[in-house]
Amino acid sequence: MVKVEQLSKYFGQFKAVERLSFEVSPGEVLGFLGPNGAGKSTTMKMITGFISPTSGSVSVGGHDVGHDPVKAKALMGYLPEGAPAYADMTPAQFLRFAASIRKLGNAANARIEEVVDQLMLNDVLHKPIDTLSKGFKRRVGIAQAILHDPKVLILDEPTDGLDPMQKHEVRSLITNLAADKTVIVSTHILEEVNAVCSRAIIIANGQLVADAQPGELEAQSEYHGAVTLKLSGNVDPRADLEALPAVFRVETYPDDARRVTAIPNADTHLYADIQALAKQKQWDVEEMFAERGRLEDVFRRLVDSHSRQPTPAGGAA
Ligand code: ADP
Repeated sequence: MVKVEQLSKYFGQFKAVERLSFEVSPGEVLGFLGPNGAGKSTTMKMITGFISPTSGSVSVGGHDVGHDPVKAKALMGYLPEGAPAYADMTPAQFLRFAASIRKLGNAANARIEEVVDQLMLNDVLHKPIDTLSKGFKRRVGIAQAILHDPKVLILDEPTDGLDPMQKHEVRSLITNLAADKTVIVSTHILEEVNAVCSRAIIIANGQLVADAQPGELEAQSEYHGAVTLKLSGNVDPRADLEALPAVFRVETYPDDARRVTAIPNADTHLYADIQALAKQKQWDVEEMFAERGRLEDVFRRLVDSHSRQPTPAGGAA
């Protein structure tokens, strides 16, 4: 549904996005990840036709965004970074304005009512957008993006700056909307990936460094198969764990002296070994679990290994 081919954007000499290619299909929620300055917003602006690429192309539903922008844009809803809206309008006025731009005609009123209900905007409908909380402003932005029931949703940092409750609400909403749509969500918050994304792309310095399912990324983590153990009493298992051939190292926690995590050597499994050890040593195990892996760890490694040479424009966080 969305096809990005060899997409590049230069600002002068500065390469903000460089030969990026990927495809997203209906039903997928693609997490578009990268540190601040990686090129996420620039890419989303090119996908939605707000800025033109230096080279490369984007097509949406088979329509080239450069050559056939009207048809391509009609299929898309876009929540820009920070969700700017006309601050002195009320949500009611803003949504009516958006409906007229989207040429919804007679369907406008019914559709506005639907999105107002869906985003729970009833209480703030006639207050200036300027005076609303961040969470409500974001909901107004999302309401505008889904007003014409687009097949493709492009959401730039939809939960940035929201409190935990609001984040949860927006994530549930994205999951509900995703069933019959193609969704691209940019974020620098890694917990978002497991919460909403079926696939993740990581970019660093404008370049693609990973394109995989969250589970596949976790499997690349040093913590894939790591086992966390907590024993009752004053038994310290560290030396025994370190003596296991499959253990690479053991980590401790400053906030919980009795908890330790054993990290395996690459491609080895620890759980059964530690279970056997616990039995042999007659440890009283209070807690023991194996991890799938940590996205932060994979993200940091991939991003670090693609760090940009310093340029006058700077960029990567
Ligand atoms: P992200 O959304 O991942 O935080 P952006 O796409 O906003 O990153 O920016 C990528 C890089 O391009 C940054 O270094 C940013 O400073 C630079 N950049 C973005 N827009 C412009 C512009 N209009 N002119 C010059 N540099 C820009």
